Amino acid sequence: MKVYKFGGASVRNADGVRNLHKIIGDEQHLLVIVSAMGKTTNALERVFACLRRDDRTGAGAEIAALRDYHAAITTDLWHGPVALERVEALFAELEELVRQTAYRAEDAELWYDRIVAYGELLSTTIVSEYLNHVGLRNRWIDMRRCFLTEQRHKDAGVDIEASTPLLRAAVEGAGVTVFVGQGFIGAAPDGTTTTLGREGSDYSAAVAAHILDAESMAVWKDVDGVLNADPKIFPDAVKIDELNYLDTIELAYSGAQIIHPKTIKPLQNKNIPLYVRPFGDKRKPGTVIRGMSAPVQVPILILKKDQVLLTIRSRDFSFVLEEKFATIFSLLERFRIKANLVHNSAVNLSLCVDNSWHIDEAVAALREAGFDVMKSGDMELLTIRGYTDELWRRYARGQQVFIRQATQSTVRVVRRCAAKR
Ligand code: ASP
Ligand code: MG
Repeated sequence: MKVYKFGGASVRNADGVRNLHKIIGDEQHLLVIVSAMGKTTNALERVFACLRRDDRTGAGAEIAALRDYHAAITTDLWHGPVALERVEALFAELEELVRQTAYRAEDAELWYDRIVAYGELLSTTIVSEYLNHVGLRNRWIDMRRCFLTEQRHKDAGVDIEASTPLLRAAVEGAGVTVFVGQGFIGAAPDGTTTTLGREGSDYSAAVAAHILDAESMAVWKDVDGVLNADPKIFPDAVKIDELNYLDTIELAYSGAQIIHPKTIKPLQNKNIPLYVRPFGDKRKPGTVIRGMSAPVQVPILILKKDQVLLTIRSRDFSFVLEEKFATIFSLLERFRIKANLVHNSAVNLSLCVDNSWHIDEAVAALREAGFDVMKSGDMELLTIRGYTDELWRRYARGQQVFIRQATQSTVRVVRRCAAKR
């Protein structure tokens, strides 16, 4: 078995879906994991945001736009308007959901997951039906029945052991050997839909590859492979041919948008190679990620946006902040806030964290626990691995830097966002 993953950009229009068909070619024993089409997840996040402010009209308008967007794709694929029953049913469900939901703040994540999951349900339904329509026999599988996750919404992890018999059963004895399933979604033990974190489809594909003992996994993307930097931000970006798991995990963790940070572990555990390949050209080799690759030689620059800097000080001015680390981190964990950089002095602990809905609650709880907390938003975290003086001068110096942390090879800088400087 092989696992292919197609991101939202690669199925954003009918040409993308046709290209997916071309890439699959006559491949057999294949699980195809697909993300929501184009920017559908963002649109569904807006539907959810409307629901939060009880703006049913706004939610309805967003859904109507999504309907049109998907209809344009199916019309193009089927060379004329087509009523796909299962697509209709999904939209009807989504509309019903939005009509019926009595939003409560405690259930924010639960409703978020139920709503945004429709992106992948729609995309996979269309892809699967289209492939069958053009003669590529396949079976659509419902990953909510195959991935049992933690009882945690919006950023759930998959319980691999419990999911193994479920996914295996779904791909066995089917009479076909090509399967199409959703990235990004699963279900919790209580049966509610969960999502695995934004951009989580890579992780879905990796878990599936692990469970099915896949010979390889490939992520088809709109880039030539893994680059050492985002070319939009750093113009001299170059492609990296080979990476090992360790470097990849470091890169993903620092915010490189190659693949979701959770993707590597399931692959590494079974030594499954991961190919990052250009969607536009099947002949190009892309990047291969596997255990035996040598450490990467070129410098790597990563910019992680949407960060918040928390400066925490114990109110009684005690010099042993270390003793309070456990309190602080477990409190942040309770609000699911992730620290990307930690910096401490005698009485201060500075944390660069991902922005989140719960940041103000966490700050309040820290204050309650006896800490003074200063919060600065609009931050970004720049990581340069293998930095040189020249890279430092070009990209990191002289900007509104709040923290600079350096080891021999890596420098990390927390600074005010470029746009806000
Ligand atoms: N559709 C989801 C997102 O946009 C998951 C994914 O694309 O990996 O975040
Ligand atoms: Mg996506």
